[in-house]
Amino acid sequence: MNSMGNANTGLLPVVELVHIDKRYQRGQETVTALQDLSVTLMPGTVTVVLGPSGGGKSTLLHILGGMDRPSHGTVRVQGQDIAGWSSDELARYRRTQVGFVFQAFHLIASLSAQDNVALPLLLAGVSAADRKRRAQALLERVGLADRAQHRPGALSGGQIQRVAIARALAADPLLILADEPTGNLDSASGSALVDLLVALAHEDGRCVVIVTHNAAIADRADQVLHIQDGRITVESRTVPGSVPAPATSVLSRTASAVTLGRMAGRSLRQRWVRSLFTGLGIAIGVAAMVTLIGLGTGLKSHVMQSVLSLGSLDAVTVSPQAGPATTNLFQPSVVSGPTHPITARTLTMLSHLPGSRGAYASAAFMAQSTYRGRTTAIMLNPLPPASFWSVPGLLPTLQDGHLATHPGTVVLPADVARVLVGSHHSPRSLIGQIVKVRIAAMSGSLFSASGLSGASRPLALQSLRVTGIGVAGVGDVPYPTALHWMAQLRRGSTAGDYPGATVLARQSSQVASLARRIQARGYGTSTLQRTAQSISQSFRLIETGLGVIGGIALVVAGLMIGVVMSMAVLERRRDIGIFRALGARRRDIFRLFLSEAVWIGLAGGLVGLGLGGGVGWGINMLLGQSASGGLFALPWWLAGLSLILGGGVSLVAGAVPAGHAAALSPVDALRQE
Ligand code: ADP
Ligand code: MG
Repeated sequence: MNSMGNANTGLLPVVELVHIDKRYQRGQETVTALQDLSVTLMPGTVTVVLGPSGGGKSTLLHILGGMDRPSHGTVRVQGQDIAGWSSDELARYRRTQVGFVFQAFHLIASLSAQDNVALPLLLAGVSAADRKRRAQALLERVGLADRAQHRPGALSGGQIQRVAIARALAADPLLILADEPTGNLDSASGSALVDLLVALAHEDGRCVVIVTHNAAIADRADQVLHIQDGRITVESRTVPGSVPAPATSVLSRTASAVTLGRMAGRSLRQRWVRSLFTGLGIAIGVAAMVTLIGLGTGLKSHVMQSVLSLGSLDAVTVSPQAGPATTNLFQPSVVSGPTHPITARTLTMLSHLPGSRGAYASAAFMAQSTYRGRTTAIMLNPLPPASFWSVPGLLPTLQDGHLATHPGTVVLPADVARVLVGSHHSPRSLIGQIVKVRIAAMSGSLFSASGLSGASRPLALQSLRVTGIGVAGVGDVPYPTALHWMAQLRRGSTAGDYPGATVLARQSSQVASLARRIQARGYGTSTLQRTAQSISQSFRLIETGLGVIGGIALVVAGLMIGVVMSMAVLERRRDIGIFRALGARRRDIFRLFLSEAVWIGLAGGLVGLGLGGGVGWGINMLLGQSASGGLFALPWWLAGLSLILGGGVSLVAGAVPAGHAAALSPVDALRQE
């Protein structure tokens, strides 16, 4: 390490300026800060720069330190022309070789003295423990060990200046540039500081440049630059270059994205009120989205569940009249008489159609049920014949009890059971009890009132034993019982007719073609499959609409993040300048601000998820048990989506201001406007 440092820098100047001009454009006017300036800085020397205010001293330091580029002329760093260096290479030079003590100190107000001193090390990728140790050692060296946790606001001017000096030494730089470092110190501390700087040059072999008004300091210099109106006279007092350059710790790494992300998190916590308001925008957007989409999804699955509970997706319901049966749930059409009656022979024909698994008669019985003096309306369907019970999805879902095959039994729908049993007992207590049922009318199927026929001769009161409680709104009786009722009800009308039939397809994919075949024979058909499809289509529309509204809310929230981030960039120009001056690369600044935005977005997304979920839960609570499983549903994909969107929106919204922050040049950012 040591020998390498000597080989590279022993005889080379640390920095060399050759015929440098620096001009600034101030409106129409061109200001010449430096003119035809040439100077050589050797390791192991102290150079003092004297001159009046506005003479160009700070500008000179900026160019030496790689913070600014000259308008004309050559800058050589250890023999290398830096004209072709990229912004990252200049940042690396500042990070690894230069220690800057600014005239205005430029500490980060929100960081403790220790963290300020450790900042150059953080930017150089040094671990937290090593940063802390080294920063504390440096603070001790400048006599501020007991002020490590104070923020700059709680320190005196002299203490702030000493923190700034400790920071300049943190990365063990070869070149130390001090802009009026003794300005705020009493004469005793001032001369102690000068002793320290001189020792760094003469004993350690570093190259020290001190800008000052104090002519006494010039007495300790190896070289004095008099700078006035941008012009320079060089006065050498000793022969420079006699001391070899030190072994500097070359910090080749950079701050990791994780470190910057943590730093961003800390800075957010410090400005938590503002962070909260920014995140609130995202939270409200996400909450709106979660509530709306959650309601849409929940409603859909609720409706679909009820639809599916009405029968099998593989079933085709056949009605006697010609033409397709109405699929409108709410306006059943009533026709006067069947043109194609369904008879036992029809059932045989239907079960032999290609793709058909079998067929059976179906009906919907409108009835009155009575139990211990309570009466309510009930609709009853026949269960499929026992030979079809193994077809998946065909049997109704039960809450309690079981389905029975023997005649004279019934499965009551939960709502009817609740009315019959009264509020003091559970519906389940009806199981095993006898319910009286008076059949009033029958129709072909649940969806069509075709073939609706009143009882031409009223049926005797039926006594049915309850074997189970179903979830759907329709009760079930065994097939033989239903056949018996049908026969009794149609006595006097056309003999041998059934009000409707159900045909089961062998596979779901055959339902549509099977239905077409049945239609071709003059029967009306309806399928749950079509109904389910059209319902899910309608819901897709609703979901898209709700998603768009939620999306707009999120975009607005994103804009809000963008605006607040832009304000933060303006407000923290100076901090950005300090970071850059200490060797942060553009992408480090970009990452820092972007991490802030993403933190805000993720936190906002999380809060929004909680808010939206809470509102949905509240809605479910208000609706009570009426909707089984609740109207609002929060599927996993929606929870994930809200976090991804929260983070994503703020990522996009934060990219522009973060880019602006990264594009600022260190000198521009540090200039007080
Ligand atoms: P000193 O440090 O000796 O007081 P400076 O180097 O700060 O002087 O400034 C030299 C001259 O250049 C001054 O007239 C100053 O106003 C001008 N100057 C410095 N930086 C800029 C800048 N970024 N834009 C415009 N003018 C500048
Ligand atoms: Mg100055």
